[in-house]
Order: sequence, then C-alpha cells, then structure tokens
Amino acid sequence: LVSRKWKVNPTVIDFGDGLRVKEGEFTIMAGPCSIENEDQIEKTIQHLVAQNVRFMRGGVFKPRSSPYSFRGLGIEGLQLFYSMCRANGIKVVTEVMQVSQIADMEPYTDVFQVGARNTQNFNLLDELGKVDKPVLLKRGISGTIDELLYSAEYIFSGGNEKLMLCERGIRTYETASRNTLDLNAIPILKEKTHLPVIVDPSHGIGIREYVEPMALAAIMAGADGIIYETHEKPEEAASDGAQTLSFSESERLIRKMRKTFELR
Ligand code: PEP
Ligand code: MN
Repeated sequence: LVSRKWKVNPTVIDFGDGLRVKEGEFTIMAGPCSIENEDQIEKTIQHLVAQNVRFMRGGVFKPRSSPYSFRGLGIEGLQLFYSMCRANGIKVVTEVMQVSQIADMEPYTDVFQVGARNTQNFNLLDELGKVDKPVLLKRGISGTIDELLYSAEYIFSGGNEKLMLCERGIRTYETASRNTLDLNAIPILKEKTHLPVIVDPSHGIGIREYVEPMALAAIMAGADGIIYETHEKPEEAASDGAQTLSFSESERLIRKMRKTFELR
C-alpha cells in the first residue's frame, strides 16, 4: 500500500491552516533532543517562530542506551510542551516508545515519532495504525530500506495513511561518525513510495559541524524535509549535545536549506 505502484499521487499530510507536509514543498522540523524545562521550550519556540519553522521536535520519553542517562520529563513535560507550542501555532513532534503511552500522549501530540529502536516494534506499529494523528517512522538502526517500508505497511494498512518516513542513519563498520547517513536511501525511497521522506542529519552523522553539509546533501538527493536538533546551549543539553546546533547555527542552516531547496 505504501508503494507508488499502488498509489501514484504523493501522500499529502494536512495539518490545517496552510500547513502540510508533501512532495514539492520543503518541511523543517527542529528542536532539542529532549524537552528539559519551560525556559528551554520558550526560547526554542521564539527561535522557530522567528525563522517561520512550524514544527518543533523534542522527546519526553527518551530511549537511552544507558538507564542512568536522562530519560525525559514524561507526560507532564509533554503537556507543557504542547500547550506552549499550540499557543504559538507550532506542531509538536515527539517520540512514542510503547503502546501504553499512545492514549495519554494523543491529546498533546501532533506527530507521533517512532524511534529507530522501535521501527520493528510491530505491536506499536499496529496501534499507531489505528490512530488519527500523523506518524514519523524512523528507519531502524540496522534496518534495510525494505524493512522500513514493511514497517510503514503495518501503520498504513491499519488505516493510518498520515505517514512520513525518516532516514536517520544506519549502523555500519564506520566509527568516525555516530551513524552513517544513508543518502542512497533518499532517491530509492522517493522512487518506491508515495510517502514523504524526511531526513535526520543530526542522528545521521552525530557531529554538530557536519550536520549542515549532510542536510544540504539530503535536500539535493530529494528529501521532502529535514528534522534536526537545536538548543540554546548545546553543550548543556540533557542529551545529544554533540550533534545539536546552537540557534545561530540553526538560523544559518535554515537559510541555506531553503536556498538549496530552491535550486533543486
Ligand atoms: C531522537 O530523535 O532524539 C532519537 C532518539 O532518534 P533515533 O530514534 O533516530 O535514534
Ligand atoms: Mn537525539
């Protein structure tokens, strides 16, 4: 069902008041890895509003490699995050880690993000297939393109057609970068599926200085949007600071991304 052979017209995800994610338009989603506090949310919103970015990302349930790392503010953090974004016309993109969180999160979530550790959590995918909210499905840490498409099939076939795919880098033998952003996946996915393809260069390379060139490369390769991490003080971020852009770096990236998209 997610194949272009089955549906020729590209999927359009409509968020109302002129906001949509679709092929031919360029979507930017930005924000911290983790939601930390009210001040951080407010400063990030100010930054995004000034740049006319309409989607803010931020995790409140964080899948951390170590259980001793910061694991997020949970549902109360999400309520605050959502109410502040809503007041500023910004849509919330946030990760859902398990089935039991869906109902609690739903009133405070505009886009359910499925993280790379849950791409093949088939029970979660089945349940998200029944939800009437857009889903951003990330590629698994060691997942193939076809596995990503089969995971998408779970959600789409369950009845939720508001689906976006996300290339976020895969694990390879390379250790010079956190992951290997698979630029190949972009034209391949664009040919195979009618779903929008969003690229996450932050997790894809994991090194702040290289987020910009990878984002621009992804746009030229055909990405419909970019999701990346930004924070007022990246070095103080509760998670993923090393790959997080400062607001001035973020501003420059936004300017360059929009120019690059026009050149495509
Ligand atoms: C994130 O977006 O902060 C995240 C945990 O991403 P991923 O699931 O791609 O590792
Ligand atoms: Mn992160």
